[in-house]
Amino acid sequence: VNLHDFARSLGTCTYCPSMCRHTCPVADAEAREAVTPQAKMATLESLRTGRFAFSTPAASVLYACNGCGACTQSCVHGIDVATALFAGRAAAVEQRSGHPALAGLPARFFSRVRTRRARLETWLGDRFRDRAELAFLPGCASLGAGAASLRRELAVLAAFGLPDVPVADLPFCCAGYPLWASGHRVELARVAAETTCALSGFSTLASACPACVWMLRKVYPSLGERPATRVVHVSEILAERLFTVRLRRRPIRALYQDACYLGRHLEIRDPPRRLASACVEALVEAPTAGVSGCSGGGGLVPLTSPETAAGTAARRVEESRQAGAGLIVTACPTARRALAKAARGARVLSLLDLLAGAARTV
Ligand code: SF4
Ligand code: SF4
Repeated sequence: VNLHDFARSLGTCTYCPSMCRHTCPVADAEAREAVTPQAKMATLESLRTGRFAFSTPAASVLYACNGCGACTQSCVHGIDVATALFAGRAAAVEQRSGHPALAGLPARFFSRVRTRRARLETWLGDRFRDRAELAFLPGCASLGAGAASLRRELAVLAAFGLPDVPVADLPFCCAGYPLWASGHRVELARVAAETTCALSGFSTLASACPACVWMLRKVYPSLGERPATRVVHVSEILAERLFTVRLRRRPIRALYQDACYLGRHLEIRDPPRRLASACVEALVEAPTAGVSGCSGGGGLVPLTSPETAAGTAARRVEESRQAGAGLIVTACPTARRALAKAARGARVLSLLDLLAGAARTV
């Protein structure tokens, strides 16, 4: 990775009077000036120019970022802080100064995806295919929840008139976000190359994971991999087919927790909200939606700083209480998991689980 590619962004942030500080969920949760977007970028600039030598303590603030993009959204210069910080993580890995909690991550990633792929073969038989017009890619967070969770998701597709859509047999069942966020770029290059090759068997891939969609649409091209497959979030396909189902509305006020990679990065805002709105009496937004509103699950912060991730999620749960919501709905499996951990009695559902409960075939 070449940090000099980020010289302009790093210079701009270093001399900025921290105009985006209020947007950063990590700075908010930790209440520490060292982890504001401006301070993290200034540290990275010092590492780039050699003012600071790379070391594990010096690089540690690079990991204090969920990748949410809230700072970028508020910045008049549109500086992409998260991409710079994640490149800084890659430089730290190259300099053997990466975060200790992520040291064995590639080995754990490859071992986990091997296990999950074997499980999918067992659970699905010939519905696990390497070619199809349209295929489904479940989120790894829901795959980890077991066969029942996957069957519920497939039942939603069936209720929306897509009973035979297979699950995509991809070599890693994941586009490699953990490798991207941890800075393990050599391993990510392998995953991106093999996944792009395998994607040629599908015309359209609908994923339940916003991070996978974002990796395939935005990050892979930056790595020189350009899948020809149309990659969509599953909510885009389902929202187009809302007319095929009758949905039972729950008599409840629900808060829609936007996922940063879905709403802010991919600008997929309307389809998940239309689907959720069809399942509940009232769907409301958090007061911080559009400003910060991050669940705390991204950027591997739950691994590098579990207290920060928990603090961020707890703020979102508190917002849902203040909004009088009896349920939190999110279209991101990672956000669901982060919020459910912090819920303390609050109900949290993924969009697909909400739809599974509400769907009745016409
Ligand atoms: S992202 Fe923009 S507002 Fe935030 S520190 Fe950098 S230049 Fe300033
Ligand atoms: S991307 Fe989000 S978490 Fe990262 S520095 Fe910006 S506001 Fe903070």
